[in-house]
Amino acid sequence: MGTQQLIIIGSGPAGYTAAIYAARAGLEPLVVAGAVTAGGALMNTTEVENFPGFPGGIQGPELMDGLQQQAEKFGAKVVFDDVTEVRLAGHLKRVDTGAGETHEAPAVILATGSAYKELGLPEEKKFSGHGLSWCATCDGFFFRDQDIIVVGGGDSAMEEATFLTRFGKTVTVVVRKGELRASRIMAQRAKDNPKISFAWNSAVTAIHGDSKVTGVTLTDTRTGETRQHGATGIFVAIGHVPRTELLGGQVDLDAEGYIKVDSPTTVTNLSGVFACGDAVDHRYRQAITAAGTGCAAALDAERYLAALDDAASIATALVEEPTHS
Ligand code: NDP
Repeated sequence: MGTQQLIIIGSGPAGYTAAIYAARAGLEPLVVAGAVTAGGALMNTTEVENFPGFPGGIQGPELMDGLQQQAEKFGAKVVFDDVTEVRLAGHLKRVDTGAGETHEAPAVILATGSAYKELGLPEEKKFSGHGLSWCATCDGFFFRDQDIIVVGGGDSAMEEATFLTRFGKTVTVVVRKGELRASRIMAQRAKDNPKISFAWNSAVTAIHGDSKVTGVTLTDTRTGETRQHGATGIFVAIGHVPRTELLGGQVDLDAEGYIKVDSPTTVTNLSGVFACGDAVDHRYRQAITAAGTGCAAALDAERYLAALDDAASIATALVEEPTHS
C-alpha cells in the first residue's frame, strides 16, 4: 500500500495537466494512467490542429507523450494500471488497481474522461473487431480498397471519414439528421473529398454478415423505410459517454453520468475529491478545455491540502502548548 498526498486518476489532457501543476507545487502526485487507455482519447487521433501553441498541428499521441514527460520531469509518478475500485469518502481515499495495488491519499483528482458511445444494436459485440470499429487510426489500415461506412455527423465522424479515404474504395457517412453537427471547416473538408458521400436522414438499424461485416440495414429516420447497403467496414463515431461507472453512489453524477462539480471550481460533493476533463464536461469537450480544468483541479487540490496542513499544524500547536487558565 502506498500513501501520497494526491492521486490523479486518468491520463488525458486533464489528468496530465493536473499532474504538471501538482508536481510543480511539490505534491509528487501519483497518476493512475490506465493499462490500455493511457493517454486518453487523443491517442486515437491523428493531427490536432487546434491545440494552441502548435501552428503546424501536432499528432495526438505526440502531444500526450509530451504532457506525460512534462509531468514526470517535475516529479509526477505515472503507473500504467487500471483502477478497479475507489473509496472516496472520509479523510484518506483508497484507490485499488488491477495489479492488486492499493494507493491512499487525502486528495484525489478524477480525470477519467469518456468512452466511445455504442450504437446499441445487439450484434455490435459480435462484429466488434470483425469489421466494426471505433478507431480509424487504429484499424483503418485493414480496410484497404473496401467499402466503408462511418456513422455520425460530428467532428469525430468527419475526421474518421477523411482519414479513411486513404484506405477505403468508398466512404459513406451515415447521418441521422439532414445536417451535420461538425464544425464548418471539418464538414467542408469531408464534403470536398471526392471519395466521401453522405447518407442523410439515415440510421444503421442492423449489421449483417456471418463472421465478418458484409453490410447494414439503413432506416430512413423520417419515413421509416429501410434499404440495404453493402460495406465491409463500419466505423462508429457518434460521441462519447463519461467513464464514471466506478464512481456512482459515491460522487454525485448528473442524469447522463457526468460528474457534478461546484462550477467554476472542480470541487465535487466529497471533500478532497476534485473532477475535471471530459468526465465533467459535456459541452466543450476539447483537449484544451480538458487541460484547463485539469489545471484548475490541481490548484483546488493544492489549496485543500494546504488547508489540511494548516489545520494539522494548529492542532499540533494546541497540543504542544496548552493554554494556561
Ligand atoms: P458530437 O457529440 O459532436 O457528435 C456526435 C454525432 O453523432 C452527431 O452528429 C449526432 O447526431 C450523432 N449521433 C449521436 N448518437 C447517435 C446515434 N445513436 N446514432 C446515430 N448518430 C448518433 O461528438 P464528436 O465525437 O463528433 O465530437 C465531440 C467533441 O470533440 C466536439 O466538441 C468536437 O468538436 C470535438 N472534436 C474535435 C476534433 C478536431 O477539432 N480535430 C475532432 C473530433 C472531435 P445529432 O447531431 O443528430 O445529435
